[in-house]
Amino acid sequence: MRRELTNKLSLGLAVALIALLGGIDLYRHRHFQVPIVLGPGVTKVEPLSAYSPRLKGTLADTKVFTLEGREPGGKVILMASSHANEPAGTLAALMFIENAVVEKGTVIVIPFFNHSGSRATRPGDGYPLYFDIPTDWGRKRFRMGNRDAAPLEAWPDPDVYIHFPDRQLLSYIDVRNSNRTWPGRSNGPLMERVTWGAMEIMRGQKVDIAIDLHGAETMFPVTNCIVAPEKSMRIATLASLTVKAMEGFENHVESSPSGFRGLSHREIGDYSDTLPFLLEAPIPFLDQPTGPKTVKLLLDGKDPFLLSLSRKKKLFVPYDEAGWPLDKRVGQHLSVTLEILRQYSKKTPDRAIKIGGVPRYAEVVKNGVGHYFHDPSAAKPDSVVYH
Ligand SMILES: [Zn+2]
Repeated sequence: MRRELTNKLSLGLAVALIALLGGIDLYRHRHFQVPIVLGPGVTKVEPLSAYSPRLKGTLADTKVFTLEGREPGGKVILMASSHANEPAGTLAALMFIENAVVEKGTVIVIPFFNHSGSRATRPGDGYPLYFDIPTDWGRKRFRMGNRDAAPLEAWPDPDVYIHFPDRQLLSYIDVRNSNRTWPGRSNGPLMERVTWGAMEIMRGQKVDIAIDLHGAETMFPVTNCIVAPEKSMRIATLASLTVKAMEGFENHVESSPSGFRGLSHREIGDYSDTLPFLLEAPIPFLDQPTGPKTVKLLLDGKDPFLLSLSRKKKLFVPYDEAGWPLDKRVGQHLSVTLEILRQYSKKTPDRAIKIGGVPRYAEVVKNGVGHYFHDPSAAKPDSVVYH
């Protein structure tokens, strides 16, 4: 009898020890801060809870960076990490914060839109917790996040998520997916409070353009594209044609379906005067039939299984031994963003947005993403924000 009790106790202790040891890494990841060096364009950093007060004190509250230009003009909001396991958008957004010089208009950037998701992971899929980017001064470390907010912040999940205000029935998990909870409400579930805060910025500051940066599987048809509703279609088409002609990469246009609710490219346009665009860059790491989910796969996008599927014409993007490297994905996001702004400025000169200092596709592919991140240890302490 006593031996049985001892066995049970030792087993219990072993389980507790394993949980504790595994938990330490997750705890560290959840509290890991990415240093951001504020570039010459940043004029204000404030919490999203300034616009959505019921986010205050939660880990879903996130930072909003404003870069107000020398001359007044139009306004754009850039959002990334709505899905925090699609890091090309996050890096592109951070490159704007660290490098952009705004000559005309205002740029608002929310680099960790689903902040809770950026501090979560997907252990069942064996995700790495971090990835490092080589820079001119050493390696810069980023958190690899998850698609949805952590249950630690948003619990319990409903059986079905009922979208507000259309009452469309969505999957239970979508209550934690900040690209299903647009346009949101001030007192709704946590992710609705996030999207509502962004809507308040757009409506209150009369933002002209919203760009939501994402990544999508190579086996998913809506990849390597700009998703746009009717009102954004003309600019999306011009941007797509121009990057192909001038910069030599494909980025087709997909129209935003009106019957599928909760997505930024639909609801922002329907509930404000802002023109929304959602950019998808291919991310082989997210495809299901790949090898292990390593940092290498995340960065270079090379996978033998995808290569063989490409030969069988199962992918929606051209794919060869070169993979689909991160530099290419980030460069695409930057060029398409800049081109959308250029096309809008041409059409609406009194609301023009002119930005210098942000590299385009060819420069990022040549120099690497890391070249555009600045050394936080060499920067003035008050110009480094930890996020
Ligand atoms: Zn996404």
